[in-house]
Amino acid sequence: MNDELRDRIEREVETHALVNAVKHGSEADVGAIMGPLMGENPEFREHGDEIPSVAGPVVAEVNGLSADERRERLADLAPDRLEELDREDEGDDTVLPDLPNAEEYDEIRMRLAPNPNGPWHVGHARMPAVIGTYAEEYDGEFIVRFDDTDPETKRPLLWAYDEILDEVEYLGFEPAEVYRASDRLETYYDHARDLIEKGGAYTCSCSGETFSELKNSAEACPHREKDHETTMAEFEEMVDGEYESGEKVLRVKTDIEHKNPALRDWVAFRIIDTPHPREEAEQFRCWPMLDFQSGVDDHLTGVTHIIRGIDLQDSAKRQQFVYDYFDWEYPEVVHWGHVQVDEYDVKMSTSTIRELIESGELDGWDDPRAPTIPSVRRRGIRGEALVDAMVELGTSTSNVDLAMSSVYANNRELIDDEADRYFFVRQPSEEFTLADDAPDAAHPPVHPDHEDRGTRDIDPGSRVSIETQDVPADGERVWLKGFGCFRRDGDELDYAGDDITAVREEGVDVIHWVPADSATLTQMRHMDGDVVGYAEPGLREAEPDEMVQFERVGFARVDRQEADDETVVYFAHE
Ligand SMILES: [Zn+2]
Repeated sequence: MNDELRDRIEREVETHALVNAVKHGSEADVGAIMGPLMGENPEFREHGDEIPSVAGPVVAEVNGLSADERRERLADLAPDRLEELDREDEGDDTVLPDLPNAEEYDEIRMRLAPNPNGPWHVGHARMPAVIGTYAEEYDGEFIVRFDDTDPETKRPLLWAYDEILDEVEYLGFEPAEVYRASDRLETYYDHARDLIEKGGAYTCSCSGETFSELKNSAEACPHREKDHETTMAEFEEMVDGEYESGEKVLRVKTDIEHKNPALRDWVAFRIIDTPHPREEAEQFRCWPMLDFQSGVDDHLTGVTHIIRGIDLQDSAKRQQFVYDYFDWEYPEVVHWGHVQVDEYDVKMSTSTIRELIESGELDGWDDPRAPTIPSVRRRGIRGEALVDAMVELGTSTSNVDLAMSSVYANNRELIDDEADRYFFVRQPSEEFTLADDAPDAAHPPVHPDHEDRGTRDIDPGSRVSIETQDVPADGERVWLKGFGCFRRDGDELDYAGDDITAVREEGVDVIHWVPADSATLTQMRHMDGDVVGYAEPGLREAEPDEMVQFERVGFARVDRQEADDETVVYFAHE
């Protein structure tokens, strides 16, 4: 290899190493750059054997630079590549596609329309995450509208209204307005009357079965042609509660021969005998179906863009008939696929979770095993971590999987800095007596990356407790973290000094430990089942809601300090 070739290789390696390091915000990796290097410079291939020895020192030099110095150097060597990287980076921030026809609206206004029949499961976070992010990106806003018009089969839970609003706030968003559909019955009735006047609806007393048979053979029922005065009178009787459930419905007159039977003369109002749980709405018996109610509300509340599941495409088509009668413009619609969440044994459905709580199999909506927002919140996972992971899934029409590991990775970045370190020895554990020459205090750092936060001061007392899986064989050494090296002699530990070469060069394991006499009994609630153990005494001083890291176990949120010297924490993630 001549000097000229060597210079060229060095320059190319340097560029690739800089690109690699800047792109990942970390050190460059020789292995990762060899492929692109050879691909772009086929003439290097015949020197393949020699290149690693040329590349090594160049990569090491790049890794010795600060992040800013790397950018500066790359700007000198290959400004195009730096620009390209910056463009890719911006792309990462806006993974959501543009909203359709956004430029045609003065202000983007979206809506979150939860059913308050329980707190949210993890999948529900996707809508507020995406809508809230769009509202921010477009400098628009979103409203929350509780679609609580089914007091029977999707019966609202009274406390779920505030709970859901609280969850929206936890995710980091604030709605411009909040509506409850059950407050708006008179508005829906008025629109029904208008629709009847326009000849767009009729009251029908066919049984569901009879109507279904007629509809499926594209035949009108005898009620379709009645005059609208009769329909109006019967609708008022529905409103006044003069019918029982199943006796009468109000249908929207669409196209009885429409090629999609689901769109033929659909039900707009029906009678429900069960009173609504809200006092303000308990007197009503005539309830709108979701398609009528949400269609009217989307228009009246100025919604410009709707996101809904791909399986609900018929909704827009049904509602379009009502919009046509009223001469309204239908909002823009984005249909997306379903989101599934891995890592939970419990099915992600509000009714399933509710049943498991009622049967006592789960402790409540915030049981660590429940795939709910209250649960991840109690475990100390920040709303932002969940939102970022949801937004990354985009809005495609195919089904997507949310990996909780990506939520955990986001959260780790958010909390690692603030989480003080503690030792936590899980059961089963074993106790060992310390030899007299052991130091009388241990001083592990509060946080390994923040020396300024000082050290913990643990009085080991005369005995320490270590996890059974960490116990060394008799005669072997072990390094008690922040304390020193010890050699096991039966049920005693003899002090073996504080020379760290034992760990670095002689393969002695570093383990966590607690003083057996003063450790604090700690219950760690965990999605795979609760874990009991003992934490170092300092954990008693941690405040509820504080995030801690149990070394070699994982991050946890301190839930409460019990009066009987027990601390309860919720496991977040590793
Ligand atoms: Zn009929």
